[in-house]
Amino acid sequence: MTGLAGATGLAPALPEGPAGVPGVPGVPGADARPPITDLSLDELRRVVVDLGQPAYRAQQVAGWLYRSTAGSFAEMTNVPRALREDLEARFRFAALDTVAERVSADGETRKVALRLPDGELVESVLMRYPQREDGTGAERTTVCVSTQVGCPVKCAFCATGLMGFGRNLSSGEILEQVLTFLRWTRRHPPIVRNVVFMGMGEPMLNYEATMAAVERLVQPECAGLGVHRLTVSTSGWLPGIARLAHDPFAVRLAVSLHAPNDTLRDQLVPLNRRYPVDELMAACRDYQRETGRRVTFEYTLLAGVNDSPALARELAALLAGMDTHVNLIPMNPVSDLPFAPSPPGAVEAFHAVLRERQIICTVRRQMGRDIQAACGQLRADVQRRRRAAG
Ligand code: SAH
Ligand code: SF4
Repeated sequence: MTGLAGATGLAPALPEGPAGVPGVPGVPGADARPPITDLSLDELRRVVVDLGQPAYRAQQVAGWLYRSTAGSFAEMTNVPRALREDLEARFRFAALDTVAERVSADGETRKVALRLPDGELVESVLMRYPQREDGTGAERTTVCVSTQVGCPVKCAFCATGLMGFGRNLSSGEILEQVLTFLRWTRRHPPIVRNVVFMGMGEPMLNYEATMAAVERLVQPECAGLGVHRLTVSTSGWLPGIARLAHDPFAVRLAVSLHAPNDTLRDQLVPLNRRYPVDELMAACRDYQRETGRRVTFEYTLLAGVNDSPALARELAALLAGMDTHVNLIPMNPVSDLPFAPSPPGAVEAFHAVLRERQIICTVRRQMGRDIQAACGQLRADVQRRRRAAG
C-alpha cells in the first residue's frame, strides 16, 4: 500500500464546491442547452411564469419529468404545445446517454454506464433484493448513484479512487441516474423506492448538488420518495456529516469505516489522516442526536488486512452503546490493486464476534460480481474498449 496521499497532499485536490457543467461551454459539438433536470421546482416555476404561463404548469412538467416514462418534451401531452416548444428551445430533456448495460446472471443487478454531456462516464446500479426465503420482508428495489466523476479521496481498494478526480456532477446529472431506473421499473415493477448515494465519488464533497437532487427526489410534486429511503454514504468528510445533521432533508447516513483504528484506517481511507476515527465517531453521535436516526457503518472485508477477530473486537468496542448497523461487505476484486476478498471462514468469524457483542450486523450479499458491480469497474472497462477501438 504505497502511494497514498498524505493529509496535506490530499488537501489541494479536494474541490471547494459544486462545479456542474450545464451547457458544457467549450466542448466542441456539445449541446449548449442545460438539462431541465438541473432546475429546482422553484426555478422551473420561474421559467414557466417568465414564458407567460401559469405557475401550475411547472407541476405538470415536473410530473412528466419525475413520475412518467416520457423521454421527450413532445410526450407532455397535457402541457400546451407553445410551452413545450419554448422549453425545448431552452433546455435539453436529458443530460445522460446510456452507453453500456450489464445484467447479472440472476437478473437482480443491472448496471449502466452513462455518458455525460462532456463525454465523461459515470455508473449507476439497480439492485433488486427479493423477499426472504421464509417469505418475510418485502421485495426491494434500490438504485445506487454516482455523485462525482472519479473521486479525490483515493481509498486503497476502490476502483473509483484509482482513476483520480474528474469533476462534480450537477444535481440533474445525479437525479437522472435515478430517473433512468425509475422509468425502467415503471415498465418492470417493482418500482424504485430506495436510493443510495454509494456509486462513484464522495457525496459530501459535492454536498449542494447531492442535496438538491435529494430535495427533488423527496418533493411530492417531483419523485415523491420517502426521505428515510435515501442514504448518503461517506468516507468521513466531517463538515458534510455535521451539515447533514441539520439539513431539512436529513437522509440516512452510512459511514465507510473499514478499520476501527487510525493506524489501519490511515492506510485504507486517506481522508482519515485529516479526520481521525475518534472525531468521526463524535460527528456520527452528533448526527444521531440531532436526527434520531441509526447510523450504518460499511466495513469492506479485505483478506489478511482488516478481517481478524482482534479487529472485530476492536470494532465492537468502538461502536458499543451506539444505535448502529454494520454492513460487512465482501470485497469486489479490482484488477491492479493488491487486495483480495476475505475467505468465507474469516467473514463468518468476524460476523460471529460482532454478533456475540450485540452489534447489529449484516453480511451483505455480493451483488452482481459477474457484471463488475464494484464502483468504477464498468466505466474503466468501457474506457479500455474505447481506447482499443482507437
Ligand atoms: N465515497 C463514498 C460513497 C461511494 S463508495 C464512500 O466511500 O462511502 C461506496 C462503498 O463501496 C463504500 O463503502 C466503499 O468503501 C465501498 N467500496 C469501494 N470499493 C470497493 C470494493 N472494491 N469492494 C467492495 N466495496 C468497495
Ligand atoms: Fe472515493 Fe468512496 Fe471510492 Fe473512497 S471508497 S475512493 S471515498 S468512492
